[in-house]
Amino acid sequence: MSGVCSPEVLIEVRGLCVNYGLGDDAVRAVVDADLELRRGEVLGLAGESGSGKSTLAYAITRLLRPPGVITAGSARFAGPVSGAPLDGAPAGGAPVNGAPAGGAPVNGAPVSVASVGASSVNLLTAGQRELRGLRWNEIAVVLQSSMNALNPVLSIGTQFSDVLRAHRPDMSRAYRQARSGELLEMVGIPADRLSSYPHELSGGMRQRVMIATALALDPSVVIMDEPTTALDVVTQREILEELMALRDRLGFAVLFISHDLSLLAEIADSITVMYAGRLVERAGANAIFRAPRHPYSLGLLSSFPSLHGPRRVMDGIPGSPPDLRNMPSGCSFHPRCGYTFDRCRTDPPPVLLDLEAGTRAAACWLQDGRVAVPVELARPVPAPAEAERAGAAERAGAAERAGAAESVGAAGSEAPTEHAAAEPTRGRS
Ligand code: SF4
Repeated sequence: MSGVCSPEVLIEVRGLCVNYGLGDDAVRAVVDADLELRRGEVLGLAGESGSGKSTLAYAITRLLRPPGVITAGSARFAGPVSGAPLDGAPAGGAPVNGAPAGGAPVNGAPVSVASVGASSVNLLTAGQRELRGLRWNEIAVVLQSSMNALNPVLSIGTQFSDVLRAHRPDMSRAYRQARSGELLEMVGIPADRLSSYPHELSGGMRQRVMIATALALDPSVVIMDEPTTALDVVTQREILEELMALRDRLGFAVLFISHDLSLLAEIADSITVMYAGRLVERAGANAIFRAPRHPYSLGLLSSFPSLHGPRRVMDGIPGSPPDLRNMPSGCSFHPRCGYTFDRCRTDPPPVLLDLEAGTRAAACWLQDGRVAVPVELARPVPAPAEAERAGAAERAGAAERAGAAESVGAAGSEAPTEHAAAEPTRGRS
């Protein structure tokens, strides 16, 4: 599901560093992270639990709670573009949590603000009034298991109305009512369910309500942190398809956080992979899914079964993510990497080496041009038409196997195989 990407950058993160705790005991949860989110784009942020994905998202929205501390970097938002104007607070308030004001260069890296424009706002240094003007109006967030955040003693309609009244005080009661119904229908729920209470809705419907709430003020950016993780795979699929249709219709950009790289390959335009607080690969979704350049991305992809070809035992990634309080020397992935060589054990790899004229980058010593790259990390990226054909073949194979699995299940002779149960694409079809 790929949309047309506009070149306009809405959020530009440079040199972002986040610690948990202070002093020598501080855990470096995000280290020197750079990323850009463009208008209308779906940017996937992938990695195992504890890799720093959510911390990065909470930092740029200033939702990070103590002991989280932003120690360096900038996160510039291109400026108000959709909803109500900001409330007039001066741009660039006092430094927050020790972050440098104005996005000063961090760790020697130049901080460019050219791509987000002169009127951009540094989210890390913005004052609270300015942040209030941006949140929900311009940048909305759907948190993990956010469906449980609905107030159980208020109807859905009242909860929509509360949001609209708080952020659009001039909106009439009749218009609020009409807008609430429109929002509910936008996510596939009849407007007459506005009078329902959360306990009268299924988990999928409650999550849809949360997505509709996030879109209530027509934001230009929606940050979604594992928004469908608590739902069954069929409901996940439905919600993601609705979300992408809304993105195509309304044009908002999405930062979509997930541990599931194959899910991101379906919905994202580009993907950034994180490991142990660092960005380790960045590329178009098709490029990462079909031709990864970093051993960790390859390992994540090898943790899911192929949709075609013979069944095989999953390789997965050996070991566990590192303890951030006691990081391995050199490349933090080296104890788990099947390609480790001497340099990996002593020297941290450079931050995201540019591999293809700015279109993809990886942080790995295999990609610095001094050693032979293993063939599985040097595959050519298939052309879009070829990738589309492969995708269609995979979907057809998935449907065929799902049908076979259903037949087996219907006959009551055998439960679905582990392979069938684990197949992500098939499960969501
Ligand atoms: Fe593996 Fe070395 Fe690359 Fe790290 S730098 S991912 S250990 S090959």
